[in-house]
Amino acid sequence: GWLQNEVALITGGGSGLGLALVERFLKEGASVAVLERSAEKCADLEQKFGGKVLAVQGDVCSAADNQNAVKATVARFGKLDCFIGNAAVWDHGARLINTSMEQLDKGFDELFAINVKGYLLGAKAAADELVKSCGSMIFTLSNSAFYAEGGGPLYTASKHAAVGLIRELAFELAPKVRVNGVGPCGMKTDLRGPQALGQQDTRIMDSRSPEAIKAILPLQFFPEPEEFTGPFVLLASRQNNQTLTGVMINADAGLGVRGIRNVAGGLEL
Ligand code: NAD
Repeated sequence: GWLQNEVALITGGGSGLGLALVERFLKEGASVAVLERSAEKCADLEQKFGGKVLAVQGDVCSAADNQNAVKATVARFGKLDCFIGNAAVWDHGARLINTSMEQLDKGFDELFAINVKGYLLGAKAAADELVKSCGSMIFTLSNSAFYAEGGGPLYTASKHAAVGLIRELAFELAPKVRVNGVGPCGMKTDLRGPQALGQQDTRIMDSRSPEAIKAILPLQFFPEPEEFTGPFVLLASRQNNQTLTGVMINADAGLGVRGIRNVAGGLEL
């Protein structure tokens, strides 16, 4: 494995991409801890992986919960090599014109608290341990970190904000800690939306279809969460990544090279 003897802490590791990262990092030889809001998902993690995964129940919006997660990780595994900020909520594409002033007002506070403040507080809680281990941080971005219409203004702005956070922290923590991002495209997960928009029980695939996602991607397939884990392993691996910091990997099946007239130029090949 590429991550033998490494220790990772993953936020939102209870489902979707975070859970796929837990499984992949274990397979690569890492010890894994998770900070996850859902008590039910924490119990599932303990049941599925036994002592191999440390599940810490808590909210990424809370400074104390982030600090507690880092402390518990170091108490259990002795150190921290990689912090993955990953927990987030979506906005189901709620547009400016169709969303009320009050929903935008409250929705911003709720969504930015998770997607942006959660990443910042997690980085702060992990920073000292990562300086000690000369480790790395990786943040989950999205196609919405680069392009319009992968969400509404709330989500798209939050993912663009995460890009700024990565650039600034990559500068501030160099030369000790590498800080990078991975931006996936659509996948079937438990991703929900803010309560302020009434989306706490609405999942991403309630408003998107596999066929529609596949159709817009130059690589023309609907990726599974585990198919996004490779770039995270690359970035976390000390052998494979001595030189990448402040880098965003667009893991979006080619969205950035979509043609103007055709989604993919090689459909006849
Ligand atoms: P998911 O809901 O399956 O996983 C996110 C996890 O975070 C959940 O287990 C949830 O309980 C947890 N969580 C939510 N708020 C939390 C909080 N305040 N504190 C602690 N834990 C909290 O969704 P996912 O799609 O796997 O999301 C993972 C990342 O992938 C997110 O950053 C998301 O923006 C990104 N992403 C997802 C898609 C997609 O299509 N699903 C596309 C691009 C990017």
